[in-house]
Amino acid sequence: MWRHRHLLGIEELDVHDIDVVLDRAEHWFERSRKTVKKDALLQGRTVVNLFFEASTRTRTSFELASHRLSADVVNVNPSISSVTKGETLLDTAKNLEAMRADLFVLRHASSGAAAFLAKRLTDVAIVNAGDGAHEHPTQALLDAFTIRRRKGRIEGLVVAICGDIAHSRVARSNALLLGKKGAEVRLCALKTMMPRHAEALGPTARVVPRLEQAVDGADVVMMLRVQTERFGGAMMSTPREYARTFGLNAGMLTRAKADAIVMHPGPINRGVELDTRIADSDCSVILDQVEAGVAVRMAVLELLLTNRPQR
Ligand code: ASP
Repeated sequence: MWRHRHLLGIEELDVHDIDVVLDRAEHWFERSRKTVKKDALLQGRTVVNLFFEASTRTRTSFELASHRLSADVVNVNPSISSVTKGETLLDTAKNLEAMRADLFVLRHASSGAAAFLAKRLTDVAIVNAGDGAHEHPTQALLDAFTIRRRKGRIEGLVVAICGDIAHSRVARSNALLLGKKGAEVRLCALKTMMPRHAEALGPTARVVPRLEQAVDGADVVMMLRVQTERFGGAMMSTPREYARTFGLNAGMLTRAKADAIVMHPGPINRGVELDTRIADSDCSVILDQVEAGVAVRMAVLELLLTNRPQR
């Protein structure tokens, strides 16, 4: 039922794979709401978190997910590791593999970094926790989980993904997953933040130039952060001007369906892409996404580590 050695991207998953993760995540979601959250399933297994870029939610939730499944987890901090002495990604990874780790959770600034390691390492499973502007599969899975819980389905929903699409691995993984699951995906960004051939990002993706058009009648509005760290800030005028044209505020949200939900992968730049009152309102499911993140990552660890041949 689960045939993947690694989780590198949504690209390689079909609808059945996606449903398997979401269904298993339901189990771990309920379990995580119990007083005693721990399960012995991955006792004796070792997970290494290897994050070359900043992270709060993803790294912490992989760590919590590992603890809840009784795996041992080690966080490697590249800024105080031999990476600072010039060691390559592959050498670092091979050394950690030699310590008999079972799974690496990798975040890296280069697109394809997780696939690069997956091709070269023989004994460890790799989870892509974000590779440059390419993919962030567990984010898309937790977003789908959140949508499915709130709306009861994904098929047929209108999802507006708005913001810095060009630099967003979240947009890419979501456009793929939601399209595969039969949602209508609208992509909306400033011209400078929209990649060329954006419609190729997902099977149902359609580019809409103005935020009003994207939000009109939407079931889900997903706002994305402007990723200034990836382009130095030269693609927008001022944060205030950006908020005026591409920020989601209460007035703009009235165009969406009355029961629309607002999502954001975090970190939020309050007052830029998202008005702070909307971020904290009842239609915001941002903290539900965070809760779902632990359950989805437990499901991913379970599927990758219990379906592998033991050494
Ligand atoms: N946390 C998400 C990511 O790592 C989104 C963001 O940083 O804006 O891609």
